[in-house]
Amino acid sequence: MDGSTAPAPARPMARGRLFFANPGPTNIPDSVLLATARASIDFNDPAFMAVYDACFAGLKRVIKTEQNLFMYTASGHGAWEAALVNTLSPGDRVLIPETGHFSDSWTKMCGTLGFEVTPVPCDWRRGVEMSAIREALAADTAHGIKAVCCVHNETAAGMRLPLDQVRAMLDELKHPALLMADTISSLGCYDFRMDEWGVDVCVGGSQKGLMLPTGFSFTGVSDKALAAHRASTHPRHYFDWTEMLARKQKSFVGTVPVTLFYGLQEALRLLLEEEGLDNVFKRHNRLAKAVRACVQHWSGNNGPQLFCQNPERYSDSVTAVLMPEGFDAEAVRKIALEKFNVSTGGGLAKLSGKVFRIGHLGDLNEPMILGTLASIEMALGLAGVPHAKGGVQAAMDSLAKG
Ligand code: PLP
Repeated sequence: MDGSTAPAPARPMARGRLFFANPGPTNIPDSVLLATARASIDFNDPAFMAVYDACFAGLKRVIKTEQNLFMYTASGHGAWEAALVNTLSPGDRVLIPETGHFSDSWTKMCGTLGFEVTPVPCDWRRGVEMSAIREALAADTAHGIKAVCCVHNETAAGMRLPLDQVRAMLDELKHPALLMADTISSLGCYDFRMDEWGVDVCVGGSQKGLMLPTGFSFTGVSDKALAAHRASTHPRHYFDWTEMLARKQKSFVGTVPVTLFYGLQEALRLLLEEEGLDNVFKRHNRLAKAVRACVQHWSGNNGPQLFCQNPERYSDSVTAVLMPEGFDAEAVRKIALEKFNVSTGGGLAKLSGKVFRIGHLGDLNEPMILGTLASIEMALGLAGVPHAKGGVQAAMDSLAKG
């Protein structure tokens, strides 16, 4: 074909793989993609129900529960909403420890849905103080707080929240509030134990650690939360657990996303059988440590630094990188994408332009991380951002330790 008539490629570097280091959606393994490339069948067909039942059981193994599970054709926002409208009643009070953009968004949703929010504010770089959560719960002697809504992994800040400590506080104070946990960007990346940690509603989504396309989300639900559901008077329809329990699939109001389940079955095989969850967590930890070593190295010469200033809260699924004052994160992201075919996440809300985010979750390995970091280091240089060269070597040294 005459090159002059060929359409321009979407990006100058359109050949080779896009190195996708966004914190969600994430890379989808080829075998998962292939599994979804199947014709639809009736979602009540026994052949599909066998796949469905295996996925139902497998997902419960991932969230580590023997209790209840409800699934939705919706992104994570849908599961957030389902958690709230199924268990609470209009005017109920919820406690939301601030973690960053996603705790703020869940707070906003609570307000829109008619719940009263008591926030526990924090410095986004250090994460919420556990003592501040404890104080808020201890002050609530009348038990007006009906739920504590926590974001396990704050994707905007690259920080985790110790959910087991929140459960320990509730127990110590004999506070009956439900513990809700958003595990959207931690599930399948680092450990989460719904039953052991006494989480009443676990909110999860498909497009991050589960390595699936976006559009499917779910809630693990404790028996206690299911009892709260029976007493809840909040209007709901699409997300109504009672409606779901009356159906053969015990989930979904409406059409079941059949092809996503073929993908989920394969993703669960990869996570639970081929690699094993503990190895998945170790791999995420290894890659996360390498990314942090690299960024810590770049911070020399007044370069970019880790946004998270609290090592106990470092996330193993995403690292937010704070630019030096006066330098635009978007310029670095643009160069990385357009020149090197490397996609990173942007800063959210008040971090827009100040932070870029390296997602290191899902279907990733060492060379993918090293290629990503090398390209970002080149982009920093081309954008004229001060930094200490050699971050990739620091990442290699970290990975070599195993
Ligand atoms: N919670 C967290 C921690 C997230 O990272 C996201 C999305 O990135 C959401 C909630 C919202 O989920 P969704 O975009 O799938 O609706």
